[in-house]
This record gives sequence, C-alpha cells and structure tokens, in this order.
Amino acid sequence: MTKKRGTDSTSGKTPAVGMNRRDFFKAGAAAGVGAAALAAPVAAPAAGHEAGPGGITWDYEVDVLICGGGCAGITAAIRARDAGASVLVVDANYDLGGRMLHSGSFLSLGGGDVIQKRDMAGEADAEGYITVPPVEDPAELDDNVDLLFTDVTDWSIVDPKAQSPYRYNEREMMRAWAENCPPTREFLMANYVRFTRVSGTHGGGGLSRARAPYCFLMLGDVTDIRKGTITAEDAGLADAERTSPFAPVKMEDATSLVGPGAVRNGVALARPLEFSMREKGVHIMLNRHFDDLIREEPFAGRVVGIRASYTPRIHPVSGQRLESFWQNGNIDERRPSVNIRARKAVILASGGHAGNPEIRSMFYGAMREPAFPTSGMALLGPAAQDGTALKAALRVGANMAGMQQNLSYPTTFHIASRLGTRDAYTDMYPGHPTFAFRGATGLAVGGSGFEEFIAVNQVGKRFFNEIRLPKRPGANRYPGDKAAPGQGLDHKPLDWRNCAAEWVRQSYTYDHGLDAALAMNEGSKAPHYHSGSLWAIMDQDTIDRTGWELRFPFVNESNGYFFKADTIQELAGKIFAGHPYARIPLSHLGTTVDTWNGYVAAGADPEFEREKDGPMYAIAKPPFYALSIMVVWHDSYGGLRCNGRHQVIDMDGQPIPGLYAGGEAVGGFNKHGLGKGHVQGFIAGTFAAAELG
Ligand SMILES: Cc1cc2nc3c(=O)[nH]c(=O)nc-3n(C[C@H](O)[C@H](O)[C@H](O)COP(=O)(O)OP(=O)(O)OC[C@H]3O[C@@H](n4cnc5c(N)ncnc54)[C@H](O)[C@@H]3O)c2cc1C
Repeated sequence: MTKKRGTDSTSGKTPAVGMNRRDFFKAGAAAGVGAAALAAPVAAPAAGHEAGPGGITWDYEVDVLICGGGCAGITAAIRARDAGASVLVVDANYDLGGRMLHSGSFLSLGGGDVIQKRDMAGEADAEGYITVPPVEDPAELDDNVDLLFTDVTDWSIVDPKAQSPYRYNEREMMRAWAENCPPTREFLMANYVRFTRVSGTHGGGGLSRARAPYCFLMLGDVTDIRKGTITAEDAGLADAERTSPFAPVKMEDATSLVGPGAVRNGVALARPLEFSMREKGVHIMLNRHFDDLIREEPFAGRVVGIRASYTPRIHPVSGQRLESFWQNGNIDERRPSVNIRARKAVILASGGHAGNPEIRSMFYGAMREPAFPTSGMALLGPAAQDGTALKAALRVGANMAGMQQNLSYPTTFHIASRLGTRDAYTDMYPGHPTFAFRGATGLAVGGSGFEEFIAVNQVGKRFFNEIRLPKRPGANRYPGDKAAPGQGLDHKPLDWRNCAAEWVRQSYTYDHGLDAALAMNEGSKAPHYHSGSLWAIMDQDTIDRTGWELRFPFVNESNGYFFKADTIQELAGKIFAGHPYARIPLSHLGTTVDTWNGYVAAGADPEFEREKDGPMYAIAKPPFYALSIMVVWHDSYGGLRCNGRHQVIDMDGQPIPGLYAGGEAVGGFNKHGLGKGHVQGFIAGTFAAAELG
C-alpha cells in the first residue's frame, strides 16, 4: 500500500521565492503582483463571515482557489503562493498531478528560453548532471518570442484534411503565451524541475524550432527532490512487471539526453512541482470534485467561490480509500458537499472534456459511444476529463473558443495499438494503487501487430483493412517543409504558397479507419445509435507466431476486455456476457471468421484488399482469443475562451470578474499538452494573486 509521507520529512521550512526581473510577466500591466495585499496564509473555515450569494454558507475561504491539481493547476498554485496569496487546490482524484503525472514530460516552450540558450552554447546544467553534448544544431535552437508567436498563429500550416487549424488560435492569448514561455521555463526550474537536452519539438506543425526537452531525475539511493535523485523502486524500475505508488508509469532511460543514470517522464515533472507546492504552504483538498461556480448574480458580478462534493476513490479489492503519496498540506474534509469562498479568484484547471461522451460528441457525433474512454482513466478516475470546467463556466455565462480544433485527428483521438485494456493509451503495471481500475497492463502489439489478426465490430463483422486501422493521419505541418525542426529551416511562415494546390490535393489521402471504427453498425438503435466496441480476433497460431504473452499483467480474463474460448461461437458468447459495453450478441462472428479463412486460402481479401498490405493468416487453431481495440480520445482543444491574462471571457466579450482558466479547460490553442498548461497556469496564477481581495 501507499506509504504515508510528507514532503516536509526531508525539508525544513518553506524557502522564500521572490520574483526576479526575468520572472516578471510581460503581457499587460501586471506589475502589482508582488505588492498584492496578502491575506491569511491558510485556508480556514470562515466562521462568522458574511453569507454568499443566495445566503450560501461558506465552509472555507482562501485568496486563490484552484480547481484541479495537474499541469496548469499546480503551476498556478505555486505562482499565486509565491506572490503571497493563500491558495487552496481542490482535486477530484486521490493524488495530485493529473495527466501531467502520466505524461512523457516532453515540454515545448521556447521563444529563446534558457534551456534553448544553454544547449545553443553547448553548456551543461548547473548541477553538472548533463554530461552529453547538445543533440540539436544551434541553428535549430535559435529562437525568439516573435517567431514563436508567428509559428502558433500561422494560417498556412495545413492538416491532412487540408485545413489550417492554427488560423483559429486566439491571438491575444497566443501572444501572452509566447511572451511567457521563457519565464515559465525558469519558473519550473526554480521549482525543482530539471530539463534534459532539447530534442526536437512537438509535432503537429506550428513549432519551427527545437523547443522541447524532457524532465529528468537521476537514479540514486534515496528519492530526494531537492537533489534530483530517485530510487529505482520509486521510478518503477526495480521489477520488470511492477510500477510504484510514486510513478504510475515506469520511468524511461534518459542517458542519451543527460548521461548515465538519468531517467525521464512526467514523474520528473509532476512530483517536483507537487513537492514544491506543498513545501510552500499551498493547501490541498483531495477527493473533492468541483461541481459549480458561485457568482454574485447568475450572469453578473464576481465569481466568489465554488461548490464541491466528496469523491473518494475506493480500491475495488481492498475496499480502502486511496491516499495520496505525500500528505503534508492535505485537508481531510469528508462532508458530502462544501462551499468554498475565493476572496480573489477561482482558477479552473480541471482539464478538458475528452472523457465526457456528451460533450466530446458536440465535435464528433460518433464519439458519443461510451465504450471508448479518455487516456489515463485508471489513474485519474471517473472525473477524468469530464468537462466540469466547461459546464460550470457556461452556467455562469462563459464563452467558448477553438471548438473545431478538436477535429485535428492525429492529436485528439486515434485507435490505440495496446489491446485488452480499457486504458489503452497508457501502460501501468501492478504496484500503483490504481492498477486495479484497469485490471491489465494491456498487450502492446504496435502498428505492425494489426496484420496478425482480424478486427471486428460489435456485431462481429470486419469493417476496415486491419493493417491500416491504427495509422494516424499525418500531423499539421508546413507544406513547404517536411516538418520542423531537424528537417530544414526553409519554411516560409505566413506564406500563401505553403498552400499550393498540389500539396492540398496530397493532404486528402488521409487514413479513415477511425471513422469506419466509429460507424454505426447493425446493432445500433435509437436513441443512441452507438457504434459499439471493437475486437481483435486471433487464434493459438497467432500467439505461437508472435510470441505475444497472453498472461497477467498484460491481459486479465476478468477485466471484461480479454476473452478466451475453444470455439468462435463460445468466444462471441463470452464477449457478450462479459464486456461492460456489449449491448447485442456478436452474431456474425462465426461467419466472419469462416469468410476470412476462405480469403486466406484464396490469397485475396475482396472486401478490404489486405493481401496488398501484408500477409494473411487463418484463424483456425483453438483456443481463440478476443482482445479489445480502443478508440482513445486523448486531448481536448475546444474550451473556454480566455484573454491574455487568462481571465475567462463571457458571451459579450468581457472578462468574468474573479474567474481564470488554464490547460485543457481552455480553447483556441491548437497545440498539445504541457507547454500550454504550464504557461497558462503561470499567467493565471500571476493575475489571480494580483486581484483585490
Ligand atoms: C500518457 C500521456 C502522455 C502525455 N505526454 C505528454 C508529453 O510528453 N508532452 C506534452 O506536452 N503533453 C503530454 N500529455 C498531455 C498533458 O499531460 C496534458 O495536456 C496536460 O497535463 C493537461 O494539463 P491540465 O492541467 O489541463 O490537466 P491535468 O494535468 O490532467 O490536470 C487536471 C487535474 O484536474 C483534476 N480534476 C478533473 N476534474 C476535476 C473536478 N471536477 N474537480 C476537481 N478536480 C478535477 C484531475 O484529477 C487532475 O488532477 C500527455 C498525456 C498523457 C495522458
């Protein structure tokens, strides 16, 4: 079980962190931050305080209240706390970090940040951990804020459907983002985050320079965030088939980007930031789902607080409540519902809507199918990406932005090549407290593995060429270039010739297996017309040929996503009886397998022309196996409209007083991940702390 620890077991008291000149936020006149009136340093029950709107009784009050303790939320919390505000982070999960903890920590900032400059100059890090030379050419690292801003608003970057999604980016917000990338990099470093050599940038077009290092720690005898060391046990590396409560995903070797003994992934980002936040005295209320915003009037006045409900995560086997790895700063509040007042501001940092079929289907109707989850659902729990920020803010009059940017397929949703688990985007082994929620690590077959089986839909019919099924369409890119950086710097930003007719024609050749996977099939009925679950069907020969290990923890016969039977009929029956999203029998499965075996014998697949793409194998030798194939909705793009200060904007274009947002809750930013969340949290924390209480 989880060890109970406090970060203060290795620390003394909170170090003072001031703002230096480079740390200073440039977009807008935010100079008052450091001088903000400082309120009580702790979140405390507000006995005797005035009632809230409608006579609401406040259970707690604080200067800055942050909904969600992941990438944007922890950054905002530290930033606001550094400025002297009392800060409370409310998180629905049992532990902090959100998707950031699950992430690869590949963190694109740029604009001429200190890590780019360090690598350009061929220097090492201050601690001397980095002993390998830079991997990028200095020309690829030569960057500035204006170029970064141009890159992320360039209308001429075209996606595989020949659309230019960057043109929808919100200009004011993108400018503030570009200006704050360099100070955010320094801020992260000042809070124990260590960066490897810069190694490329985020795909998806729009970033023309090398801007992304990973975050790392060094393997050592103790886990000491200040010194930057981690034990093999905590890093999930002591046992090939176990992870740890500290690291949901095994850390990866970072020797080539740092030196011997270095390991990387989101653990080296999320845990240091969490450590720092707790050390600095931010208060944390876990197992607490923010449900609603409280505004003075339904559509007018300030946002003055939130309503939040108790959402403990109970281990399905032990029946015990899961507890966070570190616990200093935690407020153990178990009442079903509490009202929390924010004297200065509320910051929405609870992520996007990828796990909410009702919201995500606004962008793609077929994604209303609940059989398909968001990424990291076991770690994050039922609130993962449930769109609360969007729903709650819309209820008090907020506007939205960049809604169609969700349809950038390569980064939003795709078919995963990890089979036999609902949590198909990520891996995780036993040893992490949330492993039981997925039941199996899943079998990673890679894209090429799809030639080993047939894929069927919920009625048991094939629906696409399996070999092309997991292919993602290419990312957005500068058409005049292959992709950047590392493959040429001669693109022409903002140039209409990037959209040459020939290139646009090529762009239409995108693979659409995902659309076929989400098609309605014969089982669909009103009112839902669900597309249903998908299955990889294989036999014992497949296993003998590939050496795939169909055993725990990779698959699990009791998790509802893996089945084994002696006949195809029995297999179909087991799926129908045992899969949580099976609605109708796979009545065509027997015919489908017979037909397929006929194609194999004839050497031709008249339905999908598989013979043109790879070998075809009969499915004839028992036992037979079915492993789930998942469509995963990964990132959210459409979301709340914000200005350059990350205030949420209403339907009339005005900021909603006292309300800020960052991360995947925010729309109008066609760029994936951490770089977005950290900078937006940094900006929101800065301005929220500067509000008059
Ligand atoms: C496996 C994986 C790998 C990734 N790798 C990378 C990478 O290498 N580089 C990159 O740039 N990006 C990566 N990403 C994406 C990146 O992690 C996310 O885009 C980023 O963490 C989003 O930040 P956020 O603050 O919006 O959400 P999160 O970091 O997910 O934080 C949201 C927090 O809010 C909490 N929450 C949710 N709803 C509520 C509620 N109603 N009330 C209270 N709390 C709530 C959640 O529990 C969570 O702690 C990866 C993501 C995954 C899943």
